[in-house]
This record gives sequence, structure tokens and C-alpha cells, in this order.
Amino acid sequence: MARGINTKCLHLEEEEGCCNNYGSISFPIYQTATYEHPAVGQSTGFDYSRLQNPTREHLEKIVATLENGIDALAFSTGMAAITLAMELFKPGDHLIVDADLYGGSIRLFDNVSTKNGLQFSRIDCWKEDVESYVNENTKAIYIETPTNPMMNVTDIAALAEIAKRHNLLLIVDNTFLSPYFQNPLDLGADIVVHSGTKFLGGHNDTLAGFLVTNREDISGKLRFLIKTTGSGLAPFDSWLILRGIKTLGIRMERAQKNAFQIAEWLKKQKAVTRVIYPGLPEHPGHEIMKKQARGFGSMLTFQLESKEFALSILEKVRMIKFAESLGGVETLITYPTTQTHADVPKEIRERNGITEATLRLSVGIEDAQDLLDEFEKVFAETEEELHGRKKS
Ligand SMILES: *Cc1c(COP(=O)(O)O)cnc(C)c1O
Repeated sequence: MARGINTKCLHLEEEEGCCNNYGSISFPIYQTATYEHPAVGQSTGFDYSRLQNPTREHLEKIVATLENGIDALAFSTGMAAITLAMELFKPGDHLIVDADLYGGSIRLFDNVSTKNGLQFSRIDCWKEDVESYVNENTKAIYIETPTNPMMNVTDIAALAEIAKRHNLLLIVDNTFLSPYFQNPLDLGADIVVHSGTKFLGGHNDTLAGFLVTNREDISGKLRFLIKTTGSGLAPFDSWLILRGIKTLGIRMERAQKNAFQIAEWLKKQKAVTRVIYPGLPEHPGHEIMKKQARGFGSMLTFQLESKEFALSILEKVRMIKFAESLGGVETLITYPTTQTHADVPKEIRERNGITEATLRLSVGIEDAQDLLDEFEKVFAETEEELHGRKKS
């Protein structure tokens, strides 16, 4: 019988019952660059840590089971993973990519992949006719759902059908929901991307990235590329991510619970013109998410009445940290305009709806009341400073 995801975060079924590693409950950190060979032509299975390392391999197997893939590869960062995925393509290949993506992915496509001869159509995959952008050079569709930071939701299964019809790879960056809430491979995707820095690691203390696939041919190509280019995750970082994953389920559930409370609170604020959280029934992607995911996550974006109001919040928060990144136990508030999406050209930002009054929140696992208390205080002080009005 297939195990539940919380169990899969802790235990690797295939390695059970064979007291390896002296019975160590915590998987050891194999801090080694190279491995002794028993004899000429023989190997322990490990030859050199750029190719593979036992700690990294254990992590990769766990992540593969979480995404229901046949193989997962662990990278030094999420961007290293995405960069490697782009090596699957050759000059002249065309990719359809979602318009609203993590800023670093847009920067990569615009400045590095384009230089390498790849061509991109940037469209709103959640609402446009994706098929009409397919041409004879199109090789892949690349999306996030929900997107960063506008939380647009794309129907993965519907897109997978288009991809299959035209023999395209469907690549889904699943960072925002983690495998705990969504498994794109089950819905027809070919490759899942994760920034392991975020929910998988979960503690804002290390960087990592993953590519997961359920196709033998893709796994083979990626394995060749990772050993050749050398962006695999280091042993100690692999161990930190393994440790983070152990509590993935309870962190995701609790952060989501907090996010719902904060979304409801934000909705009631005069200074907030829009709350974008897919867990709210009025979110345009709410029904699709109910169909394709097991939860809504803990990322939300909100628009303030003015840039001044947004900046004041960023200056006043104390426990809530004004910082980039997301998916950790600590609540972080981000200003996409100057942080995550600073290198995205202004017209694209504006087209996507990111303004100077947009804030993104990664809700952590603090007591919800303490988060609300801080927001109450920060909003009240800002109201008074900007409008001279006391908040009722
Ligand atoms: C952070 C992030 C990345 C990049 O990952 P790094 O680990 O920072 O390199 C990619 N995609 C999404 C959705 C992200 O949030």
C-alpha cells in the first residue's frame, strides 16, 4: 500500500530493514570528495561526489517519492536546477513560459538562455490560449502555479494535454505549494522544479534546488548533465534539507492555517485594496486549486492603497522580517519591486500587476495572534502618520 506523505517525509521504504550506517536514525553526512575502490573495475557505487554522494542520494530518493517521480536530482540552489533544465534544449528551440514567474527565472531566460539561442514566448498560461503559441520549434512549456508573486493558478492537467498533443515537455515549478500540497507529475507534468531553499528546507538556513521526473529518458539526460556541470548539492546541505523535510507536513498545515487568518484580517483593512490568496473563495483560481492541490499554501500577496503605505509597513515590522525568500518557519514580508522582481523589466512587472504598492507575505508558523498583533500595530501607526486618522 502506498504510504502517506508525512511518513514518506521521514522514511525511505526501500532502505528499511537493513540496519545500514550503524543503525544511525539520522542519515549520516558523508563529508567526502572521493571514494576508495575495492579493486580495479570495482566501485562501492560511489566514485566521486560530483557524480553522487550517499547523503545527497538519500535526499534525492526521499524527494522523488514525495513527488511520485522515478528520479530527483538535488542542486546547490533552485536556480542551478532551472539552469540545468535549460541545458535540455539547443539553440533555436522555443519555450512557452508563464509571464509571472520567480524573478530569477525571468532573469535567467532573458539574459542567459536567450544568449544561448533559446527563444521564449511569455504569456499568461492561466488564461491565454497556450496552444496558439506552439510552433515547429516549440519544445516545452514552463510554469509556476500559483505564480510568484501574483498567485495566478494554471490548470496543470489541461496544460499537460496540450503538451502531450505537441510532444512538448511540461515543466512545473512547484516551490510555492511543495509536494505536500501538490504533485504536478501526477497531473501530467514531465519535470517538477523546486527551490529546496523554501518549504522543503523550511528554516531559512540553507539553499537547495531540485528537478524531479517520472521519465527514464529525462532522468538519464539530467544525470549526465549534473555530473558534467557539477551543480549538485553538498553533503551537509543535503542533510539540512533532509532534516527540514521531516517536518514538512506539520509546517505546511500550520503555516496555511495562519495564512487563512491573515488573509481574512487583511481583507478587512481600509488601506488594503486587494488580497490575493488562492484559499479565498473569490480568488479566480480557487476551484482549480481545489481540484489539483490538497491545500492552498501560505503565500499571499496584497495591494495597499499607496506606495507610501507599503513602504511604511516594511519599515515598521519587527518580528515579521522584511526579507526576500519564503517557505520558512519565520514570517517574511517582501517588496517584489525592489527585491525578488527587481531585475524584471518595469513594463513586464506592471503588466503582471506588480506595483510599488504590492507586498508579498510568506506566512510562518508563529502564533497567528502575534502576527495579527504586529500587523494591527503597524497598520494603525501608518494610518495615523499618513492620514492622521486613528484606526477604530
Ligand atoms: C526562490 C525561488 C526559485 C529560486 O531558488 P533559489 O534556491 O533561490 O535559487 C525558483 N522558483 C521559485 C518559485 C522560487 O521561489
